[in-house]
Amino acid sequence: MPMPNALSSVAVFCGSRFGNDPAHRAAAWMLGEGLGRAGLRLIYGGGKVGLMGVLADAALAAGGTVSGVIPHFLQSREVMHAGVTDLTVTDSMHDRKQRMFAEADAFLIMPGGLGTFDETFEIITWRQLRLHDKPILIVDVSGWARSLIETIDDAIEGGFADASARALFEHLPDVPSALARLSRLAGAEHGGDPALL
Ligand code: AMP
Repeated sequence: MPMPNALSSVAVFCGSRFGNDPAHRAAAWMLGEGLGRAGLRLIYGGGKVGLMGVLADAALAAGGTVSGVIPHFLQSREVMHAGVTDLTVTDSMHDRKQRMFAEADAFLIMPGGLGTFDETFEIITWRQLRLHDKPILIVDVSGWARSLIETIDDAIEGGFADASARALFEHLPDVPSALARLSRLAGAEHGGDPALL
């Protein structure tokens, strides 16, 4: 059932590789499908490779709207996805991240590598700096994010981050719980009953 419009666009950061665990590919498909079915626009890195490609293909197959944002120097390396609803080619990596940030109402972090880590920490630190107050959901498929979250906990324990840093993001165990959380967020923004979504 489509969600209302205030939370209408979700940026997903995830791997340009598949990872070794087949559960990650299945999770990326489930997320794309869920976003498409919910009528939420997917904003992502515009590539056809790895989990990024699976995610976009699934959202499109479910009839969803998919916006890709890719810097021109990555157009061939990440094999730009020609089938997306709209594709923006930016001059730089910074422009890509800024564009994805500006267009998204919420951020989902899925399994990935160094690029995903960079995007995750950037969007969390921008919230810490009060540059935005958009929800950030880390989707811990098969426990892939355990060490990432431990790193943040270690920084808090070591006195390099405030305990409140833990509230800058939400830690969800899997895709169904992330989709349910998005549904509740959309409902809350409307002051409506999420059960009606
Ligand atoms: P990865 O998690 O390394 O597979 O990368 C996932 C996404 O992050 C891809 O779209 C990459 O283009 C992007 N990415 C890779 N390296 C960086 C970086 N240094 N800063 C920001 N994004 C990156």
